[in-house]
Amino acid sequence: MPRRSNRPARRARRATGRSAHPAAGPPARVLLLLPTTTYRARDFIEAAARLGVETVVGSDRKQALQALQPARGVTLDRRDPETAAAQIAAFAASHPFMAIVPTDDESAVVAAAASARLGLPHNPPEAARAARRKDTLRRILHAAGVRTPRYDLLTLDDDPAVAARRQTFPCVLKPTFLAASRGVIRADDPRQFVAAFRRIEALLADPDVRDRGGEAARLVLVEEFVPGVEVALEGLLVDGRLKVLALFDKPDPLDGPFFEETLYVTPARLPATSRRAIESLTARAARALGLTTGPVHAELRLNARGPWLIELAARSIGGLCSRALRFSTGLSLEEVILMHALGRDVTRLRREARPAGVMMIPIPRAGILRGVSGLQEAREVKGIEEVTLSATLGKPLVPLPEGSSYLGFLFARASSPAKVEAALREAHRRLAFDVQPAGRASG
Ligand code: ADP
Repeated sequence: MPRRSNRPARRARRATGRSAHPAAGPPARVLLLLPTTTYRARDFIEAAARLGVETVVGSDRKQALQALQPARGVTLDRRDPETAAAQIAAFAASHPFMAIVPTDDESAVVAAAASARLGLPHNPPEAARAARRKDTLRRILHAAGVRTPRYDLLTLDDDPAVAARRQTFPCVLKPTFLAASRGVIRADDPRQFVAAFRRIEALLADPDVRDRGGEAARLVLVEEFVPGVEVALEGLLVDGRLKVLALFDKPDPLDGPFFEETLYVTPARLPATSRRAIESLTARAARALGLTTGPVHAELRLNARGPWLIELAARSIGGLCSRALRFSTGLSLEEVILMHALGRDVTRLRREARPAGVMMIPIPRAGILRGVSGLQEAREVKGIEEVTLSATLGKPLVPLPEGSSYLGFLFARASSPAKVEAALREAHRRLAFDVQPAGRASG
């Protein structure tokens, strides 16, 4: 029910007499929800500055706020979205804002709950909660007849050797609430099934993960493995309608046992009929979940039976990947999201015509990052526009399936998707990462 959830916001905007357009009155103000672990803080804050929009920040730790914008934020309880929503509502009484902009799956749940309290534009809170939980997502999609993998839900009390007997192989095991392929493991037989289950169990015992998951940290989802090529759809829900912002190919095969995201290239090199089928399945999935407004990021697989919905999250693309996208006159994805949150019409914005892509540089092995070489050589590859390292020298690197970060990001633009892909591969080939195995003394 898109209209219902957006109507209070329109009323609120009329009531304050403020416009989202910087030239038309006092600056609009938004509350940005930036978890301490986000890569996105800078891009969102810069986008707001370019739009002339004031920001206040909600985050889970004081230090992060102070570094970003001293005295202009609210510290939020990261364990309980309802408590965080109440904290936001209390903060709004002295620091009013026109919209709450979440930046990841967890903050999307908090934003929906807080916006509902404040009468700001929002997704139904139960839809945001459902999108965050992979088991709920599967249940809702099956009920709505959206093609998605068969699944089985286990708890940590189950005996995986017994559960393995009722599975068909290959299958995929995963936690229900993590992102970036964290803890997602393919199993081809009962022995691998038990090993994957135990590995996920250990990951779920990590205090940080357990805290974030709450009850869900006792669940393991098992799904049939869907073969096929994979795409990612970046979209924006406007009054319940899906506007596709970009469709990305993921040209590296994702067949497991772990599912490391590497290359994203847009536009996807797929026939128009496949693209339309992907868009319409994503739109049906968003409707089934009840999402109505704001960014969505979907992962789909495509095979002889058509597209399969693997994931639909109520957030925009992760990491720094949004930098691969530019719209109309050079707007960033973050600007488009902020404009939409403030009620400006973004339905006519289009991604630039030029093919673009990003590589999330995967962590090759566990250890301490001692050095990186070849940066200049990578930057000199034709088509490469940016090489950004996000890992810190001297810090431990944790690869998948336990880890949740990247070494860095490469960005390219070129005259064809194939050239974008080739540039990213070549730049990556020129980089060398000196990773010292953990436990060995530095010397
Ligand atoms: P996350 O939200 O952590 O990214 P996903 O459930 O989207 O977790 O899984 C991450 C990746 O693992 C997917 O993009 C896909 O490549 C692979 N994957 C997950 N589930 C399946 C499945 N049932 N069949 C095939 N591949 C899968």
